[in-house]
Amino acid sequence: MRDGLNMDRQEIVQWLKCSPGEELDSLREKADQLRRLSVGDEVHLRGLVELSNICSRNCSYCGIRRDNLSIKRYRIKTEEVLRCAHKAVKFGFGTLVLQGGEDPGLTKEFISDLILRIKTETDLAITLSLGERNVDEWQEWRKCGADRYLLRFETSNKDLFHRIHPPQEGQPQCDRVAMLKTLQALGYETGSGVMIGVPGQSYDDLARDIELFAELGLDMIGVGPFIPHPQTPLGMKENVKMAAEQVPNSVEMGLKVLALARIVCPGANIPSTTAFATLDRKSGREMGLCWGANVVMPNLTPVEYRKLYEIYPSKAASTETPEQSRDAALIQIKHLGRTPGRGRGDSPTHLEQLTKPIRKEG
Ligand code: SAM
Repeated sequence: MRDGLNMDRQEIVQWLKCSPGEELDSLREKADQLRRLSVGDEVHLRGLVELSNICSRNCSYCGIRRDNLSIKRYRIKTEEVLRCAHKAVKFGFGTLVLQGGEDPGLTKEFISDLILRIKTETDLAITLSLGERNVDEWQEWRKCGADRYLLRFETSNKDLFHRIHPPQEGQPQCDRVAMLKTLQALGYETGSGVMIGVPGQSYDDLARDIELFAELGLDMIGVGPFIPHPQTPLGMKENVKMAAEQVPNSVEMGLKVLALARIVCPGANIPSTTAFATLDRKSGREMGLCWGANVVMPNLTPVEYRKLYEIYPSKAASTETPEQSRDAALIQIKHLGRTPGRGRGDSPTHLEQLTKPIRKEG
């Protein structure tokens, strides 16, 4: 196998199509070896807080889309998030991830105040994942102390992206790749990723996604199989157009993408995401950690909200308490002979970047 950045699209496609066996084992081994060399044996634990399931967008894959009238909506209160932050400190986590729908109620001021309070009361690193916001908001949150931002580009196939992610009414189509470059220029440790096996996604598209991870020099990469939600157009199979060479939304395909992401971006932080744990309750998360991942995100969202943040059905850990989520992660890490990470767990890619001249937007 050639080294990550030297792999061409055809070679990536071949890996994606590789059947189980010795050759595929060599992909896992290469990713696992690179993971050990680049980010070590520590598995960083990030406490996840799902701030709001209110969303003004109408993505055809997502269960919290605006037009899903069958869910009860919530927005968490500042004091509740602070309790989660203190729990994260007590559990020894170094990072709090604040994720939510594109909720107009999560205003610039609300999030700024939240960041300032968390930063005053704890030493936690803060990752935001609040969708497409404007530069003014990103700038302000960075000033307040936000460290990282996650925004998946979902698929590099622009036609497919616009089909599954319609723009806000009266607004032009958005360009998430340009947004990621803006976030990098603002100094955020920047993460992105894709869903695997979304209807309409071809092998060539997915291979291009992996090339784009490397071109963007991502600090964090989150990937997971697409899981149909029955209250969404893609889940109801409404206007669903499959690609001629459709990628399956399987755990196996997800693991291949995880491994390839590690190979093309060795120094990135890569979580074993909830989608893996949802599709394979028993070993999904552990398999992710064996195929290149070095991060897990135990859920700290208060239980009464957690079951309402249903982006896809039967989401793993949706009824666990934060303590149970932490304990499950620790047991799995120990079982693999790895160690829980200490400190903030910034990505080596980002730390290296800090010693170079500032990245320019463009
Ligand atoms: N609103 C923010 C955004 O769009 O970036 C953050 C929340 S969004 C729910 C987080 C991620 O969930 C998305 O980037 C998407 O990849 C993933 N997601 C949503 N619906 C999914 C589904 N049905 N299957 C798998 N992943 C899904």
